[in-house]
Amino acid sequence: MPVDRLLPTEEAHDLIALTRDIADKVLDPIVDEHEKSETYPEGVFAQLGEAGLLSLPQPEEWGGGGQPYEVYLQVLEEIAARWAAVAVAVSVHSLSSHPLLAFGTEEQKQRWLPQMLSGTQIGAYSLSEPQAGSDAAALRCAATKTDGGYVLNGAKSWITHGGRADFYTLFARTGEGSRGISCFLVPGDQAGLSFGKPEEKMGLHAVPTTSAFYDNARIDDDRLIGDEGQGLQIAFSALDSGRLGIAAVATGLAQAALDEAVKYANERTTFGRKIIDHQGLGFLIADMAAAVAGARATYLDAARRRDLNQPYSQQASVAKLVATDAAMKVTTDAVQVLGGVGYTRDFRVERYMREAKITQIFEGTNQIQRLVIARGLTS
Ligand SMILES: Cc1cc2nc3c(=O)[nH]c(=O)nc-3n(C[C@H](O)[C@H](O)[C@H](O)COP(=O)(O)OP(=O)(O)OC[C@H]3O[C@@H](n4cnc5c(N)ncnc54)[C@H](O)[C@@H]3O)c2cc1C
Repeated sequence: MPVDRLLPTEEAHDLIALTRDIADKVLDPIVDEHEKSETYPEGVFAQLGEAGLLSLPQPEEWGGGGQPYEVYLQVLEEIAARWAAVAVAVSVHSLSSHPLLAFGTEEQKQRWLPQMLSGTQIGAYSLSEPQAGSDAAALRCAATKTDGGYVLNGAKSWITHGGRADFYTLFARTGEGSRGISCFLVPGDQAGLSFGKPEEKMGLHAVPTTSAFYDNARIDDDRLIGDEGQGLQIAFSALDSGRLGIAAVATGLAQAALDEAVKYANERTTFGRKIIDHQGLGFLIADMAAAVAGARATYLDAARRRDLNQPYSQQASVAKLVATDAAMKVTTDAVQVLGGVGYTRDFRVERYMREAKITQIFEGTNQIQRLVIARGLTS
C-alpha cells in the first residue's frame, strides 16, 4: 500500500505520483542487479533530472522546482524506498548546490546555478578527510593564495559520487584554526584532481564513494564561495538541510522494510495461523509502524520550520537522530519477521538493513547529532 501522505498542494500530489511512476518503471526493474553487481546506474540521474526531481527545493528563478522542503523530502523518501543509493546521491546533490545558492554572488549564481539545477550536472560535497570526519575543523587540504586564484593540495575522503560528479563543493584550508577554512566550487575535470578507487562498502553499492587527491590544482579566484574563512559556517549551514535529506532517506528505507514485513507476515503461517496474528509478532510489527510514523513526523516538523524561515537546526538533528535510529531498528526487525529467508539475498530486507547503518554515520554521526541537541539545551 502506498503511503497515504498529507500534502499541501495538488502539485505536490502530482509530484509524488510522478516519483512513484519513475520508481516503478525506472528504478525498481534494475535496483537489485546494480546493487549486487556494484555497477553505476548510467542514465538514471539524467532521467531524474529531466523529470525535475534533482532540484525540487531550489528557487524557480535559478531553474529549481520552487517546492517547499516538506514536499521535496517526501519525494526523496519515495525514491529511497525503492533505491537508497540513488536517493542519497540526490540528497548530496542538493547539499552540494546549497553553498552557491546561499553564499554565492549574483555573478557566480548566474554562471553555475542554472546548469547545476537543470539536472544535467551532478554535484558532490567534499568536506571529510582521513583525519577529519566528525572533527571537520581538523581538515588539512590546503588552498594557497596565488595571483588571481588558489592552488589546491591535499587529500579528501568519503566523497559520495566521487569521480562521477560534474562539480565538487570543496572545503579547504586558507588559514589557521576553524576560521581558516574556505569553500570552493571545483569542476569535475579540474587539472590536478584525481580520485581513488571506490570504497568497498557494506551497502549503497551502485554509487561510488571515493577519495580525491589535489596535486597543485589551480583554480581562479571566482571559485571561492562566500568569504575566505567562512567555510565551516557554510559547511554546517548546508548540513542542516542535508541532514533532513538523510532523515527522509532513512524513513523511506524503514517504510520499505515495514511494507515487506507486513506482506510476508500476512502470507506466512505457523501453528495454523498467519504469523501477524501471533501477538508476539504483531506487536513487533506495530512498533515498526509506529517508528516509521515517528520518523516521518520529526523530519516534517523540521522541514515545515525551514519552509517558514524559522530556525530548524535543532529539529534537523532530532530528525536525523530519530529517523536513522528508527531505520536501523525497523530494518533489523524486518529481517526478524521474515525469519531465515530474511537473512538471504532473495528478499530486499537484508539490503535495507545494510543500507540503514550508514544513515546513522554520515552527515554527522548520531553521537554528533546528540552533541548538537545537547548544546541547544544548555542555558
Ligand atoms: C558511504 C559514506 C558516504 C559518505 N559521503 C560523504 C560525502 O559525500 N562527503 C563528505 O564530506 N563526507 C562523507 N562521508 C564521511 C562521513 O560524513 C564521516 O564518515 C562521518 O562524519 C564520521 O567521520 P569519521 O568516519 O571520521 O568518524 P570519526 O569522526 O573518527 O568518529 C568515530 C566514532 O567516534 C564518535 N565520535 C567522534 N567524535 C565524538 C564526540 N565528540 N563525542 C562522541 N562521539 C564522538 C563518532 O560518532 C564515531 O562513532 C561519507 C561516509 C561514508 C561511509
